[in-house]
Amino acid sequence: FIDEAIESQSLLIMQKNHKIEFDIAMDIKDIYADRNGADQILTNIISNACKYTPDFGKISIFAKNVGDFVEIKVSDNGIGIPREDLPRITERFYRVEKGRSREMGGTGLGLSIANEMIKSLGGNLKVDSVLGEGTTITLLFKTGDKDEKIS
Ligand code: ATP
Ligand code: MG
Repeated sequence: FIDEAIESQSLLIMQKNHKIEFDIAMDIKDIYADRNGADQILTNIISNACKYTPDFGKISIFAKNVGDFVEIKVSDNGIGIPREDLPRITERFYRVEKGRSREMGGTGLGLSIANEMIKSLGGNLKVDSVLGEGTTITLLFKTGDKDEKIS
């Protein structure tokens, strides 16, 4: 499902000449999520990484098991988020101002949706970012043998 999320952004990735780097562990457990939900969470995060990383930037995706969770990190070396915006960045409609968000388009919902969805699946989303250096989103997906599981 990581492949699919990247695939969904392939046009932007090609246009912006992004370098995509992977490090996916071989023994990743099944996650407790339905396919659509998991796709939507990751697609929102990867789409932000592409959107807020200038041409020729790099986007790295790491995945491994961490206890009862699968950790997926999406790291970019893009424009970053100002420190003062970090506490509110996962709120609905919250966007970093100074013109940059307006000119890029969007609603300010992607990150809040991903955050709410992953929490409703028993997981967590964390944002680390340094303005002008880049952003790392850490997703923790709960593992488990539920009715619907994906690998
Ligand atoms: P939408 O996703 O609804 O199209 P959006 O991308 O502006 O619009 P969110 O995905 O919710 O909204 O992100 C909120 C804000 O967080 C963005 O406007 C942007 O300023 C900032 N942001 C999110 N991800 C990144 C990132 N990887 N690098 C830099 N800034 C980011
Ligand atoms: Mg977005």
